Amino acid sequence: MTGNLITYDTVLEETRKAIAETLNIDLDRIKPDSSLIKDLGAESLDFLDINYRLEQRFGIKMARRFILEHVEEMIGEGTAVDDTGKLTDKAIALLKIRLGEKARDLKPGIYIDEVTSLITVESLAQGVMDILASIPERCSCGSSEWKIGEELQAVCSSCGEPAEYANGDDLIVQYIEKIQAEKRIF
Ligand SMILES: [Zn+2]
Repeated sequence: MTGNLITYDTVLEETRKAIAETLNIDLDRIKPDSSLIKDLGAESLDFLDINYRLEQRFGIKMARRFILEHVEEMIGEGTAVDDTGKLTDKAIALLKIRLGEKARDLKPGIYIDEVTSLITVESLAQGVMDILASIPERCSCGSSEWKIGEELQAVCSSCGEPAEYANGDDLIVQYIEKIQAEKRIF
């Protein structure tokens, strides 16, 4: 069993630390529901740095692109964002499914730039959890026992190889494919 190898609390703590180090701010200021951009003053380059720290810590690959960029590429230009930079109704419907409560105030006519303020400490931590949940049942050596090695990286108890998680972008693509298969939006 690998499900609880790394708990959500650990991931949340590490996410807060990564943000504190990147933005050079006090850990106490970083609450689970803080918006990185609106509350903590993060800029787009900071996200690269925060992601990099989390990747090193957990041995994972975070998504490089936002879900709506993937929609545009997979389903067609203009599906998620119109030529004026406003979200389409389909994009809003998708974010409401994906983000739940947090997206309830999204209104038609919102600009893509405003959506990035929905990225919170919690949502980043959840992104890490989604990737950690993709740990394979077995290592290529056949063993099904993982343990936490150096840092917070899962390694095979038997041969010591690091676990190969799915990367964040692939997981988003799979998520969109699932929504497509269910014909809920697209
Ligand atoms: Zn192994």
